[in-house]
Amino acid sequence: MDIEELLGFAKRTGFFWPAAEIYGGTSGIFDYGHLGALMRRKFEDAWLNFFVYRNENYYPIEGSNILPEKPLVASGHASRFNDVIVGCSKCKSYYRADVLLNDMKIPVAEGANASELGEVIKKNGVKCPKCSGMLLEPKAFNMMIGVSLGPEKGELGYLRPETAQSVYLNFFREFNILRKRLPIGLAIIGRAYRNEISPRQGLYRMRELTQAELQIFFDPDTFNPTDNDMLLERKLNVILYVDKKERVITGNELVASFNIPKFYAYHMGLIDYFYKEVLSIKNDRMRFLEKGGEDKAFYNKVHMDIEINVDSWNGFKEVGGLHYRSDYDLTSHSKGSNIDLSVNINGKKIMPNVLELSFGVDRNLWMLVDQSLIKDEDRSIFKIKRFLAPYAFAILPLQKDDNIIKVSRDIYENSRKIFNVYFDESGSIGRRYARMDEIGTPFCITIDFNTVDSNSNEYNTVTIRERDSKKQERIKISDISEYVSKMVKFGY
Ligand SMILES: [Zn+2]
Repeated sequence: MDIEELLGFAKRTGFFWPAAEIYGGTSGIFDYGHLGALMRRKFEDAWLNFFVYRNENYYPIEGSNILPEKPLVASGHASRFNDVIVGCSKCKSYYRADVLLNDMKIPVAEGANASELGEVIKKNGVKCPKCSGMLLEPKAFNMMIGVSLGPEKGELGYLRPETAQSVYLNFFREFNILRKRLPIGLAIIGRAYRNEISPRQGLYRMRELTQAELQIFFDPDTFNPTDNDMLLERKLNVILYVDKKERVITGNELVASFNIPKFYAYHMGLIDYFYKEVLSIKNDRMRFLEKGGEDKAFYNKVHMDIEINVDSWNGFKEVGGLHYRSDYDLTSHSKGSNIDLSVNINGKKIMPNVLELSFGVDRNLWMLVDQSLIKDEDRSIFKIKRFLAPYAFAILPLQKDDNIIKVSRDIYENSRKIFNVYFDESGSIGRRYARMDEIGTPFCITIDFNTVDSNSNEYNTVTIRERDSKKQERIKISDISEYVSKMVKFGY
């Protein structure tokens, strides 16, 4: 499946499409439809459940989308959150220099600066791909989107470039309220904004995106999460910066042979478990890619991208990251705010270190659609995990009979209080099944003459059909709720 096919599916069925579509849309900004919004919530709930709620002293918080300028100066975003852009002297088009070169298969280091990229452009005689005009000197372009607060030329603010900053700004208050303990985990699922020059690839590079980020604040001398040592024994696919070779290696081996901190390796195992066991991503489609040298932010002690091989993106792409950010964030905000954010733990004064688990929600949803849409003989099935499916089940009266419709509506009314369900009485039953298979509905319930016939031994029962196997069985109406609850429940 390519990008256009996936986007076509998403538009046709109700998952997502470009914002302001009736005006022709705009690059890198998307809206979620009735199915996409449901699935996104379910993904976010599962993420919170898995990474946040199960840990003592970990909590979700919410942060504002608009931030004043000062914290973003302190964090370095005002000066360093840049892409290098290059303009055309003739048609005035702008390009992200590294993306332009990548598209032309000209190798370029990820963190290359404007003058380095300018050299590569000159050396290769790169021209404007639209009009073959001369390219100007590349220059740094800050990707934050500014907003003016108040009337006239008001106070300068920015739409936050990452949710992480909102957490760092709230650390001090939360630490004090929450009995001054480490580790403490604070998570945000929310929007972030980046003025991307080349938004593209559907939900991959966006100007407004949703992040799910967990920041764990800890004392590096004592942080040792060991609630499940099996996570350190999982076989991980890893490309280390030292030799850039893909290897299969356990967390324990990474600790022993490659100097990876144990808490870091533990979280690699946790993330690996989430993708492979919870989301059912195939083993050979997931890997960790370690960043080093110019590709790594200077404050990160260890930085690995989480990559999934996504067909519509033509290979492995980043869907998240695990970043050991040292004490950079709290040190920067201590300086910027003149408030000492170091803490006292058992008489020891420390600046907490941060481990960041960062996920692009939109990217993960795209990836899941890509990996779960299956063509199976005569039908399309969206084989999404049941707990992520927009609807738990559909209610399909088999005939347009008054009694059948009445019982079907009753089931629908009662089910709606507990599940997201869909009622569909029009069209052939084959067509109705096909529609539900295509949007991933795990179960279809049909109501027929036997259901409403008090002389039938199938009185007050319905047929329930499972999406993937098409297997059907007869269950009591009174058992529907318990039956489906067990099947669609999030668990691991
Ligand atoms: Zn041009």
